Amino acid sequence: MKAGIYLHVPFCKSRCSYCDFATDVYRSAEAVDRYVDALVREIRNPKSEIRNPKSEIDTVYFGGGTPSLLAPSQLERIVGALHERFAVDAEIEFTLEMNPATVTAEKLRDYRSLGVNRASFGVQTFDDRALKLLARGHDARDARQTFELLRAAGFDNISFDLIAGLPGQTLEDWTRNLDEALRMKPEHLSLYLLEIHEGTPLAEQVRSGRRPAPDDELAAAMYETMLDRTAAAGLPQYEISNFARPGFEARHNSKYWRCEPVFAFGVSAHSFDGRTRRANERDTNRYVYLIERGESPVVEEIELDAEQLSAEFAFLSLRLTEGLNFKDYQTRFGIDLNRQYAQEFERLEEYGLIAIDQGVLRLTQKGMVYSNEVFSVFV
Ligand code: SF4
Repeated sequence: MKAGIYLHVPFCKSRCSYCDFATDVYRSAEAVDRYVDALVREIRNPKSEIRNPKSEIDTVYFGGGTPSLLAPSQLERIVGALHERFAVDAEIEFTLEMNPATVTAEKLRDYRSLGVNRASFGVQTFDDRALKLLARGHDARDARQTFELLRAAGFDNISFDLIAGLPGQTLEDWTRNLDEALRMKPEHLSLYLLEIHEGTPLAEQVRSGRRPAPDDELAAAMYETMLDRTAAAGLPQYEISNFARPGFEARHNSKYWRCEPVFAFGVSAHSFDGRTRRANERDTNRYVYLIERGESPVVEEIELDAEQLSAEFAFLSLRLTEGLNFKDYQTRFGIDLNRQYAQEFERLEEYGLIAIDQGVLRLTQKGMVYSNEVFSVFV
């Protein structure tokens, strides 16, 4: 089984009001250079916790933060280190997250020549008022222009991120956003319901009553619209939040849902080698400091036992519309899931959250909105 590589780039032009990711405001090319040096050292380190140095890899994903703030020369150094350390598959899926107004035609050409063949494009919404409220630092025109630049540079695999349930957003607003995204014909869509994270400015605004709290019923209606519109546009759902033209399903993210190995580098990066989960230091300065001193950036290491592995496999598989096949599961883990959870499954079926058909367990549409209810059975 080939592994995936995740690299975290923790810099953004400004901080969005809803964000709780490990990210810092971009200060200078020098600060980014120093971080890139550390990242390269972590990849090259022969003593790092990642055990199979010549593992074959078939996906690379640069996430953030805003990886499109990397200069091509910085990206080139990281890509060079990956090629030294891993056997890179010729058909690799190489994704870089990009935000509107952070790239030029020239930069995109350089990215492509370094092997980037998929753009994960952070649109979020085409509504300028909402973009301002979220402190996104770009407007809808920037998003449309950047999308044109991506196509002109030859990107034929583009994913949009959109957020539903923004404060004050109506069902009509959401539908209009979705329709605009679909008219632009991306190959892939990641559609998320807004989550309010403690400690963010948005959480404070909601608490103080300056912004309305999320409305569950409206979110469910938005989700339903999402499923109808994407299916009609030829991008069927394949995962709770993901939709794709057939053949353009995200190969990298699918590794997480299938419990396949992903080696991760950079601040706050999370690795999984098929048995052990490892998390890196979450503070950027401290991460760089540890690497520069030749110390390990890993701050948490959990070896999953057979029970944890099988439970994780169960609820991650359920995120996918293909569902969980009881027979395959029994072959892999020796557990008759249908018997072990008979009572729980009966209850969830009664609530309309799951459906069992010909030995395959799937979330219903309602189950996708309330998926945590179902997943809690396994944890
Ligand atoms: S661009 Fe993304 S990672 Fe950066 S602050 Fe905004 S939400 Fe967070």
